[in-house]
Amino acid sequence: MPIYEYTCIKCKRRSSIFFRSYSEVADPACSHCGSQEMRRLVSRFAVAKSEEARLDDMSDPSQLAGVDENDPRSIARWARRMGQEMGEEMGPDFDEMVDRMEAGEMPDDMDGGGGDDGDDDLD
Ligand SMILES: [Zn+2]
Repeated sequence: MPIYEYTCIKCKRRSSIFFRSYSEVADPACSHCGSQEMRRLVSRFAVAKSEEARLDDMSDPSQLAGVDENDPRSIARWARRMGQEMGEEMGPDFDEMVDRMEAGEMPDDMDGGGGDDGDDDLD
């Protein structure tokens, strides 16, 4: 179900127009003044949406499924995948941290974040 964004030529306001099917995508009317002189905008928001969706994917718990937070190698694999998803250079600190985790070492600053050290009390 397509949603397109239009600018009204007459009143210059924007309308996001929702169509029930692709065959209906014709002669949209301004939701403000009813004019049919509409100019469709390049759907910049669609790009923003997919960017958002990509970030959502990364915070999606299912992305963390199979990651054993007590296994540094497992975290390292996830961190590398996340770095690739971001498509950005994460910097030497990140690489070094991942390298250390892949070597089986749990980095100190992983637990430094805020009182999440209650593991011993679980039983
Ligand atoms: Zn209008």
